Amino acid sequence: MSVQSHRLSKEELSRNFSDINPPFRCADAAIMEASRCLNCYDAPCARFCPTHIDIPKFIRQIVTGNIKGSARTVFTSNILGLACSKVCPVERLCEGVCVHQLQKERSVPIARLQRFSTEKALKEKWNLFNPNCFLDKKVAVVGSGPAGLACAHSLAVQGVHVTIFEKEKRPGGLLTYGIAAYKVTPESCRDEVDYILSVGGIGLQLEKELGRDFFLEDLTAGFDAVFLSIGLGKTRPLGIPGEHLDGVIDAIGFISRIRTGEFSKVPVGDKVVVIGMGMTAIDAATQAKRLGADEVTLVYRRSIQEKPCSDRELNLARLDGCRVQWLASPREILGKDGRVTSLICDRIKLEDQDDDNRPKPVITGETFSVEADMVIKATGQVPYTDWIGKSSLQNIHGRILTGPGFETSIPGVFAGGDVVNGGKEVVHAVQQGKEAAMTILTYLKKN
Ligand SMILES: Cc1cc2nc3c(=O)[nH]c(=O)nc-3n(C[C@H](O)[C@H](O)[C@H](O)COP(=O)(O)OP(=O)(O)OC[C@H]3O[C@@H](n4cnc5c(N)ncnc54)[C@H](O)[C@@H]3O)c2cc1C
Ligand code: SF4
Repeated sequence: MSVQSHRLSKEELSRNFSDINPPFRCADAAIMEASRCLNCYDAPCARFCPTHIDIPKFIRQIVTGNIKGSARTVFTSNILGLACSKVCPVERLCEGVCVHQLQKERSVPIARLQRFSTEKALKEKWNLFNPNCFLDKKVAVVGSGPAGLACAHSLAVQGVHVTIFEKEKRPGGLLTYGIAAYKVTPESCRDEVDYILSVGGIGLQLEKELGRDFFLEDLTAGFDAVFLSIGLGKTRPLGIPGEHLDGVIDAIGFISRIRTGEFSKVPVGDKVVVIGMGMTAIDAATQAKRLGADEVTLVYRRSIQEKPCSDRELNLARLDGCRVQWLASPREILGKDGRVTSLICDRIKLEDQDDDNRPKPVITGETFSVEADMVIKATGQVPYTDWIGKSSLQNIHGRILTGPGFETSIPGVFAGGDVVNGGKEVVHAVQQGKEAAMTILTYLKKN
């Protein structure tokens, strides 16, 4: 067993990491699919979209050849409409409730249609928003992920001057560093951020970290309002013996290496175990397999009924050849010469509901072992407790508490995205950034 890079040829890697949801080949194909939309009254698809895009409208605009209007309809509700068309778990959102499903028919491919019009807007550099009056107000946005970008854009469109501070070398947050490479590429993220910034009035300062290069007091003194969209921090530790061994890594670091470097240079084990069953775990498992790992096993402490990923995501992992150990909880990681060799798991049974209204996992006393030279932790992220915990921002273990308009306990400071909701999806972060911008505007007009 060994952890190695360069397991597959360039051609194999490029095939394995090609777009998982390819775009329509031609406009006719898009129009044909768009024509299947029934333009439902009180459309369930739009109600289930967290950013409430007028889906029947943008689809109708495609049918009538008004692609620019269609892109505008999408971007007005969701400025990251292109990214969302590639990364949203649509089977759990808009497409999952399309009325065609009632007739046991295929849903309208809403995401691919959204991609069709928004991708054209970026390619053609369509200028769809014109801030008309500039307010003499300045807002600082900390973090350039989906929540920060959506907030910055909504404010800039209203004529507010925005400065985004980002600690990394590149903007985009988890969109750039965290989401699987077969969903979005670094180039598409860069194009999307450039498009958002092209509205004007938004300055971007990279490699500037709140808490290191400047402090919250500097921002409240220098700006009329502040929006905190710093997301979450590191992967939650397992807290079991052997976690320090070589070969035990965290999913976000693993995915970030795949996103930022050459696929062939990313080392992966022969036998990989991924702990967790959310979207991050599925992405880590499938990408380990696509880099050339022989065996990948997902370990989850509850049963298939309670899995946090969707059926589609689980099927993706299974089709890639990943195995699943349901009802199994990691107990200890064993190693030899400082390197991981296996994972010992407790067999679990489910009993009455716990505090989350989910069946409670209980150890049966039976254990089993899975051979592994790489263990990937995908058990969720923990908030930045270090400085948030010590600040005067009201928070629960680093998760910032906000009111209905995303106002924090400090006047003039607002927050949204993962740092507030504890970690959901891109589309929820976008909506929170957008809603917070509206409250910030009201606040700016009053102060
Ligand atoms: C591995 C992984 C895969 C995922 N896959 C999907 C998916 O397929 N589809 C989906 O919809 N969602 C997915 N998600 C969830 C989604 O990425 C997040 O919900 C979303 O990115 C949250 O946006 P945000 O703006 O709140 O935070 P982030 O995207 O985390 O952005 C926060 C930004 O703040 C910056 N920052 C942090 N601290 C500071 C500081 N002190 N000073 C300055 N800048 C700072 C960070 O560098 C980052 O750029 C995934 C998440 C993970 C972890
Ligand atoms: S539910 Fe389906 S058919 Fe109805 S408006 Fe939405 S996409 Fe069109």
